[in-house]
Amino acid sequence: MILPDGLAERIKACNSTYTVRFGVRLRGRMYSFTGWRSVHSEHVEPAKGGIRYDESSTAEEVEALAALMSLKCALVDVPFGGSKGALCINPKDWDVHELERITRRFTQELAKRNLISPGRNVPAPDMGTGEREMAWMADEYKRTGPSDIVNANACVTGKPLSRGGIAGRTEATGRGVQYAIHCFLRDRAHQGVAGRHDLKEMKIVIQGFGNVGYHAAKFLSEDDGAHIVCIAERDGYIYNPTGLDVESVKKHQLTTGSILGFEGAVSSPNTAEGLEVECDILIPAAMEGAITAENAHRIRARLIAEAANGPIAAEAEPIIWRNGVVILPDLFVNAGGVIVSYFEWVKNLTHIPFGLMERRRRERRNSQITAVLETMTGKDFPEDIRDEFLEGGSELDLVRSGLDDVMRGAYEKMSQTLRDHPEIKDFRTAAYHIALSRIADAYKAIGI
Ligand code: GLU
Repeated sequence: MILPDGLAERIKACNSTYTVRFGVRLRGRMYSFTGWRSVHSEHVEPAKGGIRYDESSTAEEVEALAALMSLKCALVDVPFGGSKGALCINPKDWDVHELERITRRFTQELAKRNLISPGRNVPAPDMGTGEREMAWMADEYKRTGPSDIVNANACVTGKPLSRGGIAGRTEATGRGVQYAIHCFLRDRAHQGVAGRHDLKEMKIVIQGFGNVGYHAAKFLSEDDGAHIVCIAERDGYIYNPTGLDVESVKKHQLTTGSILGFEGAVSSPNTAEGLEVECDILIPAAMEGAITAENAHRIRARLIAEAANGPIAAEAEPIIWRNGVVILPDLFVNAGGVIVSYFEWVKNLTHIPFGLMERRRRERRNSQITAVLETMTGKDFPEDIRDEFLEGGSELDLVRSGLDDVMRGAYEKMSQTLRDHPEIKDFRTAAYHIALSRIADAYKAIGI
C-alpha cells in the first residue's frame, strides 16, 4: 500500500500528549501524581481509549497504546479516533476513598483540556481501572458544568450498569477473545489448530488472570469445553494437564491474593515457564512484551491469540512464524472492549436502552410462530429451546450479537485481504493494511 507523500508520517505520530502533574492532600500531607492522556488520531471524533493505573507507565508507552487504539477502531470500523491515558500509580497503595479523590482530581485536569468529553475524548477502563473509576470520572465530569449535560454520561464508557453502563461491558474483552478464536476456527481457508476446528478439550494457556484473562478462560472452558491447562500470573503459574476449574481458581485468587497454592494444580513461582507449557492455544492477556526474542523459540503453542495490547515484541514475531505458529493480533483479538464501549456510548447518546421498543413485539411474534408451528405439525415445540426462542432479546443478548457481528466482519475483512494480497502472509499485516487504508481514506477525504 502506497500512501501519498507525508501522509504516513502524519498517521504515525501522535497528535498530542498531555502530561498532567497534580497534588492531592492525603494522610496529612501533599502527594504528587503524574499522568498522561495522548491523542493519536482525530480523523474521527471522539478519540477513544482506556486509562490505566500502573506504576510502570510512561509517556512513550501511552503514545504507542494510543496509536494501537486508532488502528483497532479502524479495523473493527467503530467511529472513533485513538487515545490512551495512564496515571503513574499503584492502586494497591491507596484505599478506596483515597483512590476516589485522586481519580476525581485527575478527571478535573483532563476535563480542562477536553480530554474527557462525550464528543471529543471518551476514556474507558484499562489495566488497574474498572467500572468504579469510570463512575467517579463520569460524576466528576458532570460537576465541571459541561454545556452538554444531557449527554454527559457518554463522557466515559465501562460505567456500572446503574450509572449508565451497558450489560456485558465488563466481560466484553474476554468475550471478544472467545469470538476471535471462533472466527479463526470456523475459517476453512486455514488448518484450524492442528487440523481441528472446534475447541472441545483443546489445551489453552492463559497469561494474566485479570479481567480479560479470567473472562476469556471462563468462556472458553464453560461454553466451548476447552481445557485451561495453565494460568500464569506475575508471581508464578499453576498447571493441571486435565484442565483447571476457572471459577475456583478465581475464588482462590480473591481469597488468598494469588493463584499459587490452588488445590488440584502444580504451582510454580517461575512465571516465564508458564508461557512455555505445551498447548494448542496461548493467550497472553497481561502486559506488553510478554514474548520477546529471548523466549519466543521456547513457545510451544500452535496459535497465539493476543488478548493483551502488544504482548509480542517485534523481534519475537519472525521467530514465532518460523515455528509455524499462527498469531491472531491484538488489534483484532482484544477489540471486544472498545466495540462494546461503542454500544454503551451510543446508548448514552440515544438515551434509550437497546431493544426497548421491539422486545415485547418480538416476543408476541415468536409466541405466534410457535403456536402456528404446533398447530400445523401437531407436535409440541421443543421444550429445551422454547424459552430462548420466545425471548424478545435482552440488552445482554443484543450486545453479544452485536459484538459477534463486528468481530466476524473484521475477521472476514482480514481473510479477504489475505486472499487478495498474496504478498501479505499474516493476520497482523492484514489488519494493519485494512486499518491504515481506512485512516488514510479519512484523512484524504478531509484534505489533510
Ligand atoms: N482499554 C481497552 C482497550 O485497550 C478499551 C478501550 C475502550 O473501550 O475505549 O481496548
